[in-house]
Amino acid sequence: MKIGCPKEIKPQEFRVGMTPNAAQEAVSRGHDVIIENGAGIGAGFDNDDYVAAGARIVDSAEEVFATAEMIVKVKEPQAGERKMLREGQLLFTYLHLAPDPDQTHDLLESGCTAIAYETVTDANGGLPLLAPMSEVAGRLAPQVGSWTLQKANGGRGVLMGGVPGVGPAKVVVIGGGVVGTHAAKIAAGMGADVTVLDRSLPRLRYLDDVFGGQFKNQYSTAGATAELIQTADMVIGAVLIPGAAAPKLVTRAQLSTMKPGAVLVDVAIDQGGCFETSKATTHADPIYEVDGVMHYCVANMPGAVARTSTIALGNATMPFMLALADKGWKQACQDDPHLLAGLNVHAGQLTYYAVGKALGIDV
Ligand code: NAD
Repeated sequence: MKIGCPKEIKPQEFRVGMTPNAAQEAVSRGHDVIIENGAGIGAGFDNDDYVAAGARIVDSAEEVFATAEMIVKVKEPQAGERKMLREGQLLFTYLHLAPDPDQTHDLLESGCTAIAYETVTDANGGLPLLAPMSEVAGRLAPQVGSWTLQKANGGRGVLMGGVPGVGPAKVVVIGGGVVGTHAAKIAAGMGADVTVLDRSLPRLRYLDDVFGGQFKNQYSTAGATAELIQTADMVIGAVLIPGAAAPKLVTRAQLSTMKPGAVLVDVAIDQGGCFETSKATTHADPIYEVDGVMHYCVANMPGAVARTSTIALGNATMPFMLALADKGWKQACQDDPHLLAGLNVHAGQLTYYAVGKALGIDV
């Protein structure tokens, strides 16, 4: 199959859909891999890396879209890219169609077949192509939070691990799913005193079994949260209620009960944020202060570590990409119901119920 990977054009997007290693795997199975000139630069891969992997470099996105039978990307196709999609072409990328009627309309119009990373499932009921980005954001949260805690950035001037004779920072993580667990692991690894709150008892049991010695956990109630944030140096928001906006778990009035210069890192900001005072920020200007409390609310945290994120995403997408290339999308989806769960659009027809429901389109 001819597999094409264009350069991402969404602002501030430095990831790339295919790593040289993924390209090499595809080439070794007899596929023809076409990479746009400079597509990997933002993630630290140059054209030579792809050429060494056996891929071809072409000058423009137009050439990639005109030649490839399957397009592999990271972000949803932008308006100009959507015009280049054609009937029968396969698109494999993040789409997030439910809040995006314009994109949905264009994909339907194009006649392409679109498989969305975010709706591919796994045998445990998880979302294997979203998990790597939650892992990245979770592990990044204590890193950016500890930077924000530094005096020059408006923070309390507290070191995560303390030093001999001085106690560590207190970190509260609200939500103990993928983001929260990775955040807690890293914060504990930095030497902080960490407590994770979750509303799921099975999840708390799991955290206790696996991480019992490394960090504490507590059932999440408004009362427990109110008490813990008063002594916290850092609070990391990592909750998710699938399909809903994040619940507001810390109010503006509660900020005055916190220590001046404490830090809130709202990873759930892409779902509206779980602190009342959160508003989305960018990597260029990531932090702001409200009532003496510092806020970090970047909605696309993995973009800060584009190389790690690209490789992590590539590791997760590669088996699916290879199955699609080897068998064609129909056979690959017939053989794997989890990949079939990713099918959102085919030949002018919406094929994903939740998107149809959100946009009022028949499925
Ligand atoms: P997840 O489903 O793995 O975990 C969410 C956890 O929140 C679950 O364990 C759930 O029980 C818990 N929860 C729900 N309500 C709660 C409450 N009131 N109190 C305490 N816990 C509660 O989800 P995830 O993959 O960890 O994602 C968490 C959030 O991070 C999502 O909003 C996701 O979109 C977001 N995210 C943001 C970025 C970014 O760049 N900002 C990147 C990746 C993920």
